[in-house]
Amino acid sequence: MRTNSNPTRCRKHRAALEEEYRQLQHRIELAEEQLMQQSTSNQYSTEVSYLDQEDLIEKCSRYRRQARVVLQGLKRLQGGTFGRCAKCERAIAQKRLEALPTAQYCLTCQEQMEMTGSAA
Ligand SMILES: [Zn+2]
Repeated sequence: MRTNSNPTRCRKHRAALEEEYRQLQHRIELAEEQLMQQSTSNQYSTEVSYLDQEDLIEKCSRYRRQARVVLQGLKRLQGGTFGRCAKCERAIAQKRLEALPTAQYCLTCQEQMEMTGSAA
């Protein structure tokens, strides 16, 4: 088996993932703050639409999902399985990883899953 560990690349991906995680945490905090402000201002104004609130809740959970994916990527980096497709175990193209460090699947598997509609 050919190992795909290039320390410089690894560091780059790790930095990208850590940065993304930080940004997501920040966005989650902001959205939660807004949610809190909304729920308190609701007592005084009935004009705040539920849609806004639902939108914020939806945003929050989307960021949390993304943060989880980023964490999984960091774990794969530590475990040495980073950059390998979780489905066919072939190496994921470096270009793809640079554009999307959280990629778990190679392009072929990803496209297959999208076609069959089983991608989450
Ligand atoms: Zn694959």
